Order: sequence, then structure tokens, then C-alpha cells
Amino acid sequence: MPTALPRVGVQPKGVGRLRSGHPWVYRSDLDDTDGLEAGLVALADGRGKPLGTALYSPASEIRVRWLAPPGETVDGAWWTHRLRAAFGRRAGIADSAYRVAHAEGDGLPSLVVDRYDRWAVAQLLSAGLEAVRGQVLDAIREVLAPQGLLLRNDSAVRERERLPRGVELAFGEVPERIAYTEGTLRLEAAPWTGQKTGAFLDQRENHALLGRLPGRRCLDVFCYHGGFGLQLAASGSRDVLGIDSSAEALRICAANAERNGLALRTLEANAFDWLREAARGPERYDVVVLDPPAFAKDKASLPRAIAGYKELNLRAMKLLASGGWLFTASCSYHVHRGDFFAMLGEAATDSGRRLQLTEIRGAAADHPELVTVPETGYLKAALLRAID
Ligand code: SAH
Repeated sequence: MPTALPRVGVQPKGVGRLRSGHPWVYRSDLDDTDGLEAGLVALADGRGKPLGTALYSPASEIRVRWLAPPGETVDGAWWTHRLRAAFGRRAGIADSAYRVAHAEGDGLPSLVVDRYDRWAVAQLLSAGLEAVRGQVLDAIREVLAPQGLLLRNDSAVRERERLPRGVELAFGEVPERIAYTEGTLRLEAAPWTGQKTGAFLDQRENHALLGRLPGRRCLDVFCYHGGFGLQLAASGSRDVLGIDSSAEALRICAANAERNGLALRTLEANAFDWLREAARGPERYDVVVLDPPAFAKDKASLPRAIAGYKELNLRAMKLLASGGWLFTASCSYHVHRGDFFAMLGEAATDSGRRLQLTEIRGAAADHPELVTVPETGYLKAALLRAID
């Protein structure tokens, strides 16, 4: 018989949230849990009715993350089963790097697992999950059988869980650079040191979308390793300029271009300054990509973030040639879809351009969004076309 899990009482507000299909319960919606350690708990409502099994994080505002209904045992086999199901949903993906587990979006709260060819990179983002680390790592080993698993546990999110931050090899070997395929391109990820788990996999399908657009003069602003610019350069005779403020990102971008025999110019610059100057100059572009980092880290920084996005978009709109395309994205969770499109409307008004909304986009399908959990859908994007 497995030992009984500690019981945690959920107050009516928290019960309502769980019933709505959201797995989080905040500290203020729980009965007293003083002294309880991180790990698995059994949830119950005010009348003692079982609500299922959850991960418990003693220091986090998000204190409980629901996993499974009453009667379902959460053990090593459970994690393996959930992860295998998530892996199975990615069966048709031709690229050799993609997200295997998108945390809550795959019913695996606070667990991110990305596959990079024969290797895997994971993030354990809650204290509750850390407490069952052994079972989770075994599940990854069993389902993906990678040559090595790297834990990119250096994410700032771990601080809110009072967990240490660091990069750690869980087992096997993981090289400094991993070559992977995206469409017809061979790219390189930097799993130990790169952003996120080594590459921006969430824009995978949007990179491909850009490759399908017509146009010669192209601008990839916030290009990082060239995700958009390289797909543009690979699909027709184009003149592509990639701009980023990070010299290291541009070095990898240039190496990616060379490896694929593609011409792509890079420029180290602050995008705000560069766009301000360029909008005053004569050059116009057939395709402009704007993929900035998250400007809003919390609700308080939202107004400033929106102002920043608006300035960038306004200037990018001015740079479009007649008939030109603007692909614009925001990965700030706090900037909701409505805020994003309202901002685009204001930028379009101020730019004086007539812009069609030709596609509403989000993260690639391997980063699934749960309709009941808005936090799983942080990436918003639009493809606009100047028709004046
Ligand atoms: N478009 C990329 C991902 C971009 S991530 C892809 O699809 O793979 C955001 C990038 O913005 C990072 O590379 C970061 O170095 C860069 N960045 C951040 N602030 C910047 C600024 N003010 N000017 C230019 N680049 C900036």
C-alpha cells in the first residue's frame, strides 16, 4: 500500500477555479498548510470531498498545481504515461527540435521538455515538481531515450518557488552546440547557454510562414540566431538584414547562415534606435519581422511595455513598402491578445498606413494552449499587409 498523501483543504474560490479547468490554486484559497513540505498532496473541499492529487509548493503564490482526479495514483508510471501521450501528439513533426511537454498545456504542470535531435533539455519549474524529480527524470529517460538530459533550471521562475537556479546535467552527455533541422535548414542550438532551452522553438511554424511570403528587401528585427531571417534567405532571391543587440546571438546567426550557404547580413544595434533612424530615411522593405523579448514581466510594467511595443510597431509600419508585410509578435504573457491588437490599431493609426490583418498567429502547435488556462498561450502574433 502506498502511504497516504498529506491532505490540503481547498476553499470555495479555489474549488471553483479547479472546476473551471484551471489547475492552479493560490495560497489565499487554501486552508492553513503551515509546515507542509513540497511534494504530492491530496486535495479536498470544505466538506472533505476528495478533489484529486496535486503538486504542492510551500513558498509560491501558486501553491497548488492539480494533476489528477481522485482514484488516479500519481507515480512513476503516471508521469511516463502523461509524457508519452504528449510525445505522441507531436508524432507528425518533421523538424528535429521541438517541445515535447508544454507544462500545463500538456497536463504536466511546471514541466517543460524540449527535444533537440538526440538530446533533451528540461525545466522543472516548481518546488512540488522538484520533490518528485526522480520519477520525472525517469519518465523522460524512458519516453525519449535521449543521449543526455540537460536541466535548464536557471529560469527566474524558480526564484518564486524558492528553488536554486542553475544548469545541470541530469544524465548522459549534452554537447555545447546541437545541430537540428527546421524545414530545409540546419540550425544550431546552444542548450547550455542560449535563451530558453537553447532556441526559440515556439516560433518554428511562424519562421516557415515567413519563408512563404514574397518580397526581396527583408528585415529581421530582434533576429537572435536568425530564425526568421534564415527562412527568408532560404526561400528566394532576397536581401535580408538581421538586427540584434547581442553580438553573441549574431555570431551564431552568421554561423547558421554560412552552414546553410545563405547570404544574410547582420547588424549589432539597439532596435529602438535603429528603427527610429530608419523610419526617417529613404529605405523601404517588403518584409519586416518584429520579434522583441518580453517587455512586460509583471502587471505593473504593462503600460510601459505597451508603449514600447507601439513605438516599435509604428516605426516598422512606416518602413513597409507598398504591398509589404509586417510580421509582429509579443511574447509577454501580461500583454493579452486584446491589448496586443488594440496596440497594433493605435500604431497603425499613428503611422498613417492602411494595414490588413491577414493572419492571426500564436505559438507553434507543439506549444499547445489550454482554453481554460490562458497562461499557456503567451505568444501572440499577427501578419499585416500594407495596402496603401
Ligand atoms: N526572432 C528570434 C527570437 C528573438 S528573441 C527567433 O525567432 O528565434 C529576442 C531577441 O531580442 C534576443 O536575441 C535579444 O538579444 C534581442 N534584443 C533584446 N533587446 C534588444 C534591443 N533593444 N535591440 C535589439 N535587440 C534586442
